[in-house]
Amino acid sequence: MDYVGRQQRLREALPANRLDALLITHLSNIRYLCGFSGSAGALLVSPAGSTFFTDGRYTEQAKSEVQAAKLVVARKTPLTAAAEWLGRKWIASRARKSQTLGIEGPYLTVAARRGLSDGLPRHIRLREAPPLVERARMVKDADEILAIRTAVDQGAALFDRALQVIRPGVREIEVAAEMEYAARKGGADAMSFETIIASGARSALPHGRASNAPIAAGGFVVCDFGVILHGYCSDRTRTVYVGAATTEARRVYEAVLASQQAAIDAVRPGVNVSRVDRVARKTLQQNGLGPYFTHSTGHGVGLEIHEAPRVAQGQPEILRPGMVITIEPGVYLPGKWGVRIEDMVVVTEQGCEALAPTQKEFIVI
Ligand code: ZN
Ligand code: ZN
Repeated sequence: MDYVGRQQRLREALPANRLDALLITHLSNIRYLCGFSGSAGALLVSPAGSTFFTDGRYTEQAKSEVQAAKLVVARKTPLTAAAEWLGRKWIASRARKSQTLGIEGPYLTVAARRGLSDGLPRHIRLREAPPLVERARMVKDADEILAIRTAVDQGAALFDRALQVIRPGVREIEVAAEMEYAARKGGADAMSFETIIASGARSALPHGRASNAPIAAGGFVVCDFGVILHGYCSDRTRTVYVGAATTEARRVYEAVLASQQAAIDAVRPGVNVSRVDRVARKTLQQNGLGPYFTHSTGHGVGLEIHEAPRVAQGQPEILRPGMVITIEPGVYLPGKWGVRIEDMVVVTEQGCEALAPTQKEFIVI
């Protein structure tokens, strides 16, 4: 991974954002910038270079993983260590001129922020920085796309396992367990999120994570699942029908599939993400199902399962080559059932490419 280039671009963005340095505390951003995959650390990026702070539990891991940054293993928390280090070194070299240290507001608790400012000399001001790293992470480089492809391939295979297990009377949680066991045996770091297996009326819950309920004898089963492989996430939803399908069930399924295809066809560089959302919504509206599509059309995926850009109304982002997003329209009839179909696509120079494309015809079990 190009840690040097990523840090360099971030460094170059500091002056325009009126920051003298940026303290990264969000673990996914830390991993993106220097490769550290542990759970305690802080990365200081300044014009003079980068310094990574962690604690004694991560000495060896940090030595082997962290790139393009000096390493400080502290006895205290990484944040306290960073504050003390700043007080001693960075600030000392800049006399008494006031300095602005950017922090990541969404990822710093009030208590942590207080602790940080207590440890800093008076002439250092803390200021909430814009999401510079998140913006950079929206466009994936070739190494990342390769990693995502591998994660999507592995994640996609889990649906085959689900098809072997889903039967009326089998508990949703058993289906999830079999998929998760297969994922770990296949080498996944973890699941990207709690596996969703939602059958019968529960399929109308967009986030119906697997429960102890047995799979109903008739109705849809929504399976939403993904793995993390080498740090990168996959995300996919397939919906199958258990029992004799009604005409209405088939009609709704086909409408969701058409909505997803129309949205995928709309993905290309230069298009606003809100347009992709609108296309998905319009197809469902034309089928009289508009009011039942109750969430946004998709989201970015990478080191995190949900990251920028959001594919939703009112979002400003313009699609660029290298962005990886999901397209996941759904229809939810409360108390009855729901259908969702989700795939990840990577934006290419001309349009987009669906990752690990598989058949999406109506499946009856
Ligand atoms: Zn999903
Ligand atoms: Zn998703």
